[in-house]
Amino acid sequence: MSYSYDSENIFAKILRGDIPNATVLETDYTLAFKDITPKAPDHVLVIPKGAYVNYDDFCQNASDPEILDFMRACGQICKDLGVEDKGFRAITNAGEHGCQEVPHFHMHILAGKVMGPLLA
Ligand code: C5P
Repeated sequence: MSYSYDSENIFAKILRGDIPNATVLETDYTLAFKDITPKAPDHVLVIPKGAYVNYDDFCQNASDPEILDFMRACGQICKDLGVEDKGFRAITNAGEHGCQEVPHFHMHILAGKVMGPLLA
């Protein structure tokens, strides 16, 4: 499947430096920052620097180094937050049914409280 990327989406603007963000980790391929409206005591968004619309676009079209870097960044953030012991939730919303608001692939890392059942 091919995807059409909107370079005016809010995360593209963050990556260009047009909008400020609270960065927690940055690598060659990945940026992670605090969610502006946190849904848990710790709520970090992890995004690839490349222009990928959603999870499928990223998995199908990103290079192996980009994917590896992204996954390692997610792990490093959990380590830095100190939540490996108590646990965390990592989710990505995709498309209309996933209620994705921002059309640039991102992983939510949520921690710091008991999340409750996902499918309540
Ligand atoms: O997965 P979804 O696309 O719905 O999530 C987008 C997330 O981006 C929201 O949790 C929202 O709070 C966050 N956001 C942000 N900074 C912005 C705009 C949105 O952290 N400037």
